[in-house]
Amino acid sequence: MEDSSSGDESPTFADWFTSLSGRSIYAKIPVTYFEDDFNLFEAHALPNFENLLEIVLEDDPPDDEMVEEPSAREALITFYEVVHQRYITSRAGLHEMFVRGEFGRCPRTLCHGEFVLPYGASTNPGQATYKLYCPHCQDVYFPPSRRHAKLDGVGFGPTFSHLLIMHYREKFPAFPPQGGRWDTFVPKVFGFRIHHSSSMACGRGQLRSRPNGYR
Ligand SMILES: [Zn+2]
Repeated sequence: MEDSSSGDESPTFADWFTSLSGRSIYAKIPVTYFEDDFNLFEAHALPNFENLLEIVLEDDPPDDEMVEEPSAREALITFYEVVHQRYITSRAGLHEMFVRGEFGRCPRTLCHGEFVLPYGASTNPGQATYKLYCPHCQDVYFPPSRRHAKLDGVGFGPTFSHLLIMHYREKFPAFPPQGGRWDTFVPKVFGFRIHHSSSMACGRGQLRSRPNGYR
């Protein structure tokens, strides 16, 4: 006989996933979200989709025996991450991530500790690692945490951070910042700006034009 006297909800697949190393930054996707096939559009392309979905929809989260096999464990992780990318662009997902709050601060000195947001350059698994996007300088950075640096960026994708900013516009810096310019570091030698013809005067604009610079 099941004991439901405590009133506590039993652990879910999302509880299992977010308890893994470095994965507390992910939203907890409700089980009901997995029940709507529309929400699983991208996940359909994954190998063994039907088996993975069956495990996710079970009452109990995966036990240790089930995820002992590394390939099975990785498949479950990828499944969650792919669905997560879509979930956090939903109204409920955006709200959960916004409430969750801090994901770090921009390492750029002239951003004065602006909060950064999760970012993944690709919508497909295994293409780009997890990065951090700064709404102030609008650049992308490697996360300082080793655990986070190894995460697959597919869990967040290229849309989420910008959609969150659009949704909670008043909480983020104006675009462009006040005065129409970003605070930009200007390299100088003995107090003089380096001439633009010098190779040392490579500006942020040129850096940004590098193809695949943030993969
Ligand atoms: Zn910044």
